[in-house]
Amino acid sequence: MNIKNIFVPSCLGGRILKNHNPKVLGMEPKENVKKPSKRYYRKRVELFRLLDKIKLWPSRTGILHGIKTIEKMGDQAQITTHCNKTFMVNNSRNSRAVRWLRNKWFKGVCGTCRVPAWKLDKYSSTLFKRHYGSSLLSEDEQKNYNKK
Ligand SMILES: [Zn+2]
Repeated sequence: MNIKNIFVPSCLGGRILKNHNPKVLGMEPKENVKKPSKRYYRKRVELFRLLDKIKLWPSRTGILHGIKTIEKMGDQAQITTHCNKTFMVNNSRNSRAVRWLRNKWFKGVCGTCRVPAWKLDKYSSTLFKRHYGSSLLSEDEQKNYNKK
């Protein structure tokens, strides 16, 4: 397969949904393919922290949207996408959205949101591990966490 194709948004359709094995998707290191460095996050990262970081929202219909704003109100947040959809989500470590983002289950990218290619590249080089990677805690939270 042509590994370069994977980073072209129009080519992301369908294949990701069917074939979300990172190896199949060419996300394993490969010489002579320029790509952003890999980053690792914990599998059980909180939804809000993840959204703050990657700014992408997987809709139920399998479309990735770009997030314009996240307004947090306790355990809920109001998300506004670049295509001006607004909705409430609950912070969770295992909601549909977290799972879909983690598994990269989407079949297309919203045309109205105009998600830049670099953002998709960054997302596709983001891997989720159970025992390794950042929980995306702030510095203070990290200190408290280490004390426990
Ligand atoms: Zn959109």
